[in-house]
Amino acid sequence: MTSSASTTAFGSDMRAAVLLPLPLSGPYDYAVEAPGTPVRGRIVRAPLSGRELVGVVWGKAVGGVADEKLRTATAVAAHALPESLCDFVDWVARYTLNPPGSVLAQALRVKDAFEAENPRHALTLGGISPARSTAARERVLALMADGVARMPAEIAELSAVSPSVVKSLAEARALKWVELPEFERCPEPDATFDAVKLSPDQLRAAEHLRDAVKKREFSVVLLDGVTGSGKTEAYFEGVAEALTAGRQILILLPEIALTVQFLDRFAARFGCRPMEWHSDLSQRERKRVYRAVLSGEARVVAGARSALFLPFTKLGLVVVDEEHEQAYKQEEGVIYHARDMAVVRARLEHCPVVLASATPSLETYVNARNGRYEWLRLTQRHGAAELPGVRLIDLRKDHGEPGQFLSPPLRAALTETLAAHEQVLLFLNRRGYAPLTVCTSCGHKETCRNCSAWMVEHRYRKRLVCHHCAFETPIPERCTKCGAEHSLIACGPGVERIEEEFRAGFPDARVAIASSDTFSGPAEAQAVIRAFAAGDIDVVIGTQIVAKGHHFPQLTLAGIIDADLGGGAGDPRSAERSFQLLHQVAGRSGRGEKPGLVLIQTHNPEDPVMQALAAGSRDAFLSQEAATRERSATPPFGRLAALILAGTDADKVRGTGRALALAAPAARGVAVWGPAPAFYQVLRGKTRERLLVQAEKNVDVQAYLRAWLAAVKIPSGIRLTVDVDPISFF
Ligand code: ADP
Ligand code: ZN
Repeated sequence: MTSSASTTAFGSDMRAAVLLPLPLSGPYDYAVEAPGTPVRGRIVRAPLSGRELVGVVWGKAVGGVADEKLRTATAVAAHALPESLCDFVDWVARYTLNPPGSVLAQALRVKDAFEAENPRHALTLGGISPARSTAARERVLALMADGVARMPAEIAELSAVSPSVVKSLAEARALKWVELPEFERCPEPDATFDAVKLSPDQLRAAEHLRDAVKKREFSVVLLDGVTGSGKTEAYFEGVAEALTAGRQILILLPEIALTVQFLDRFAARFGCRPMEWHSDLSQRERKRVYRAVLSGEARVVAGARSALFLPFTKLGLVVVDEEHEQAYKQEEGVIYHARDMAVVRARLEHCPVVLASATPSLETYVNARNGRYEWLRLTQRHGAAELPGVRLIDLRKDHGEPGQFLSPPLRAALTETLAAHEQVLLFLNRRGYAPLTVCTSCGHKETCRNCSAWMVEHRYRKRLVCHHCAFETPIPERCTKCGAEHSLIACGPGVERIEEEFRAGFPDARVAIASSDTFSGPAEAQAVIRAFAAGDIDVVIGTQIVAKGHHFPQLTLAGIIDADLGGGAGDPRSAERSFQLLHQVAGRSGRGEKPGLVLIQTHNPEDPVMQALAAGSRDAFLSQEAATRERSATPPFGRLAALILAGTDADKVRGTGRALALAAPAARGVAVWGPAPAFYQVLRGKTRERLLVQAEKNVDVQAYLRAWLAAVKIPSGIRLTVDVDPISFF
C-alpha cells in the first residue's frame, strides 16, 4: 500500500486510522503529525482517555469524526513496522477472531521499544601522555592500547589498579570519554564457518532447501526424518543460503529456554549463537533484539512462538523445528498455533518455511501426502547409530510388588545397562511424587479448593500442589474430610516416587530428576542436561522436558514407566499425541555408537499406538490415524472451534452457555455441540462450560462464528474465549 492510497489529507496534517494495542473493535482516526505522509506501519504516540499510547498507522481514516474532535497522534522518529507485519496482524486477528489491537499487542510487546536508551559512556585512549608515569598507569595504558572502549570499573579490574588511577588518567586526558552505541552489535553468523560433510540423503534435502531459499517464493517443506538423521544439519544449509543472500532467518523452537544444545550447535556451524527470543530475556535484551530485527542487523533469531511477531524486514526463511509440538499452541490471550501462523507469515513474506519433525503432526503429514507441502525424507540415523529396538512390557503379567512401578524386565535391563557404564532415561510424564492422595478411612480424594482437580503430592517440598492454579498446602497429617489420622496414602507414581524406588534398588547409580518444578529455572535444567550429556549422571528420571531434541550419545536404554497416560477428554488427537511423545522418548536411545533399547510398560499392549511403536511403523500408524479422522470428520478433514465460557457465578455461566447454544445459527455442514461442563469444571475458582463447533472442511468457520457472536451479548462477569483449531479439550 502506498502512502497516498492509505491516507487522506486533513488540513496541514494527515488524517489516518491508528491501531492501538488494545482490545478495541478496530483502529481510530487521528490527525497524524509526521514529516511526510503517514504510511501504514508508522509508529505514533496517540492519546486515548487521558493516556498516551504507542500505536501504529493502519490505513485510510475510517471517517465520521468531526475535524474539531479529531485528536492528534505524533509520529515517533523514523520508526515503522514493516507492512507485511501489519498484514500478518490483520490476518491473525481475522483467523483467531481477536480484535486486531490485541494481536498488534503481540507485535509491540517490548516496553519503550522505540524510545532512545540513555546514552552510555566508556573510556578509550585520549592520545595525551600523562605527565607522571607509574607502574599502575602503565598497566592501564598497555591494556587500552588495543583501542577498545571500556567502562572504568572494567579497566580497573583488568589492569589490577584502583578506580582512582583510572579516574586520574581521565582527568589528565590520557583517557577520553566516548559515547557507546545504544546496544552492543549483534554477532554476525558466518555461512561458511564450519560446514559438516553431508550424507547423500542429507545433501539432497539441503540442496532442495537452498533452492527454495534462492527462489524467494512461498513454499512449505516438510523435513521428515527419524531422530538423529541430521534434519538440523540439513536445514542449516537453508539458513546458510539465506545468510549469503542477505536475508533474515527465523527458527522457531518449542522450548527455547532449554535448548542450549541447539544454540551451541548453531555456533559450531556459523561461528556465533543466533539471537534469542523468549520470555526469560531482560527488558534491555528484548529491546536490543527487537531493534536489531527491525534494523535488519539481527540475521538469525531462534525463538519461542512469540518470535513470529517480530518486525523482520527481509525474512528469507522460517524454520519450525519439532513442528508437531503442542508447545506451539498459545493457549491464553490471543489463542494461536505458531506452526500454522508461521506458514501464514512465510506466505506474506514470500519465503519458504521448513517444518521439521520425526513425528509430523497429522495435519502436516496429510498436506505432505497430498502434495500441498513438499516432502523431504531422511531415513537413516547419522553415522553408525541405528534406531533402537522397542519392546513392550505387559504390566498385566510382568509387574513388580504392589507399590512398585519398575517391572522385573525393566529392572533387569537397568542392571545390565548400568553395569556396562551406559546411560538410562526413565520417562514418566508426571511431576511430583504421586498424582493422587486418598484417605483409606473415608475414600476422600484431596482436591484443590479452586479447581476440580486432584492435589499432587510433592514429597521433597512436603506440599500438596494444584498443577492448574498452583495453590498449595503442607501435606496434611489427617484427612481433610473425616479427620482420620495416618489414613492418607499416595496413589500412583510421579517422577519423585520413581526416583525413590530406583535409589532403593540401585543405590550406587548417579541419578537426577528432570521436571519443570525440580528446577529453579532454565539455567538449572540446562545444567542437568549438560551434566547428563557429559556423562556425570547415569540415570535421568524425567518428564517431557527431556523427551525432546536432546542428544545423549551414551544413552542406550529408555524406559517408559506408564505408556497409558495421556489422551483424555474427547480429544481427537490423543492417539497421535501419545505416539509422538513416546516415539520422541524412544528416539533418545541409541543415538551414539552403541545400539539402543526402549522398554515400554503398558497395560494395553494391543493398543494401535503400542503396536505401531513396537513395530516401528510410523507411516502405517499415521495413515490409519488419518483414516479414523477422515471417518469422524475431525481435523484435518473437518474443522473445529471451541467456545469456552468461564466465570465465578456457576449458574450464570451455565445459563449463558444455554443461551449461546440457542443462538447458534443453522448452517449447512456445521454442527454445534454443548454446552457441556469442561473436563476441569472449575479452574482457578471459575466454572467453565464448553461448546464445540464442528464444520466440514470447506465451511468458513470464522464467518460462521462472527455471525453467531454478533447476535449474542455475553453478560458481564463472564468471559468468552474462542479457540479456533483447538488442540486442548480441557
Ligand atoms: P535430527 O535433527 O534429525 O535429530 P541432528 O541434525 O541433530 O538430527 O543430527 C544428529 C547428530 O548427528 C548430531 O550430533 C549431528 O551433529 C550429527 N550429524 C548429523 N549429520 C552429520 C554429518 N553429515 N556429519 C557429521 N555429523 C552429523
Ligand atoms: Zn487449583
